[in-house]
Amino acid sequence: MLATTKVYGCIAHPIDHVKAPTLFTSIFNKKNIDAVMIPIHVYPENLENVVNSLKLVRNFHGMTVTIPHKQLITKLCKKLDDDALFTGAVNWIKFDEERNLIGTNFDGKGFVNGFHGQNFFLKDKRVCIFGAGGAAVAIAYAITEANIKSLKIVNRDKNKAFDLKEKLIAKHKSLRIDVSNIDNYILNDCDVIINATSLGLSESDKIPFDVSKTLGDSIIADIIMQPKETKLLKKAKSLGRSIHYGKYMIESQIDLVGQFLEIW
Ligand code: NDP
Repeated sequence: MLATTKVYGCIAHPIDHVKAPTLFTSIFNKKNIDAVMIPIHVYPENLENVVNSLKLVRNFHGMTVTIPHKQLITKLCKKLDDDALFTGAVNWIKFDEERNLIGTNFDGKGFVNGFHGQNFFLKDKRVCIFGAGGAAVAIAYAITEANIKSLKIVNRDKNKAFDLKEKLIAKHKSLRIDVSNIDNYILNDCDVIINATSLGLSESDKIPFDVSKTLGDSIIADIIMQPKETKLLKKAKSLGRSIHYGKYMIESQIDLVGQFLEIW
């Protein structure tokens, strides 16, 4: 590390599980960029003080934001892009010339870019998303910006699914958006089905939906990264469906981060 090395952060609580500092420092090295990413462990009640102090650190250029700060930090940002405004959450911030915070959320674009990167397409597709939590909201926003034909939302808590539908309709008045019951959904009218719930993280989790209800030529996407091939994707593969791994959503965010930070 040199005196000129640019410093980036990954702010979280707890901190032990975060992978971004290792990942991004190794990307900086590979790309010959004189920068490091450090883990920053902060309790929510201290977020504002820490952010105000970081504004004073001139070689600190930005950070990735994770649990539990994603929503709270929006209040400290001078500017939020459309994804951050829609989701009410930020996963990257940078500082402008006046050291104001600029916030964005790459989860949705990350999914769309990762999907397109595998030569799967969303334009004119009938999409179903399981989930209405943070990641699902980000993905739903991004896919409705990608000219899909229709969207079906299925979530355990139906009120959250209806809230998401209302927010999306306000942006896309002519788009067909349905909400289905978690115990009674139809999937044979969908081209792409996305698991955006947290089901699949744990070995004991049940499969989020019944793959046998899907069309033979449908694409089954998961956003769970660990394990790489979830029970859902294993089942989908065994039934001959095309599958899409969760890792592409995060991997494709690397390009977006470089553009946002203006470093590659
Ligand atoms: P949230 O806690 O905001 O949302 C969790 C979602 O899962 C909700 O829709 C919730 O339904 C649903 N859910 C949880 N448990 C069950 C269950 N037992 N049965 C049915 N539905 C259930 O989490 P996030 O949206 O932030 O993250 C979801 C997952 O996405 C994470 O586990 C993470 O691994 C993954 N992720 C992957 C990313 C990537 O880059 N690949 C990026 C971000 C997240 P309800 O509303 O009814 O509670």
